[in-house]
Amino acid sequence: MLPRQARLDVLDVAIGLRPSARILARPGPEVRAAASLIEVLGLDACVARGLAKVPVGRSFADSFAPGDSAGAERMAILYVAGRRESAEWTRSCDERCDDEALGEALGYPLCCVRAMLARGRVPSMADAVGMYSARGGYDPLVWPPAAVADGPLLPHFPCSAGCEASRMLALARWHSVRSDLPELAMHVSRAAESLYWVDGDGIVHSGGPGSIPVDVISVVRPGDVLPRGRS
Ligand SMILES: [Zn+2]
Repeated sequence: MLPRQARLDVLDVAIGLRPSARILARPGPEVRAAASLIEVLGLDACVARGLAKVPVGRSFADSFAPGDSAGAERMAILYVAGRRESAEWTRSCDERCDDEALGEALGYPLCCVRAMLARGRVPSMADAVGMYSARGGYDPLVWPPAAVADGPLLPHFPCSAGCEASRMLALARWHSVRSDLPELAMHVSRAAESLYWVDGDGIVHSGGPGSIPVDVISVVRPGDVLPRGRS
């Protein structure tokens, strides 16, 4: 099955929340599942000439994860948009490393795009756990590490945990998923209610209280719950 975060990204484009999306899918059944979803939704897509390297068993690019070279797998990169020309434009921004234009094409808030450019690179998931949490808690609307549970509400790394543009994007995605796709919504809310911790190798994990190994000291908990009504 196509990773849920890729489905969430494609749905953003289908409902007009973002102009285009960049998704990762494993060559074979996942790419075929992506192609069929894109067709059903009346969207178009093009494929990157190269493949992305991601840690085995994960569905997001965490290229700075320690030790990933030992356990990396290759995934296809698809650019999805309402029209083929828009998908090709997003791909061309990516190919020429024009990150500001790419961020705009993907509908990321400009404040966040510029913050990542100033930082020089996107954070690793382990860095993100510290960056977007405060006093051991996280806001489930602005929590990129939910990617490790395949249920993030944001497609990008926000400029800060308090970024209002990112909160609005996450809220719009949550409302749409919650009203139309109960199975996806249940998974997203489970990811938003999980604990997150970093192990001694710098790998981020998520789960319930019973799944935390004893040697982990720092655990981040949900500081809030996802809104249940429309706001
Ligand atoms: Zn921002």
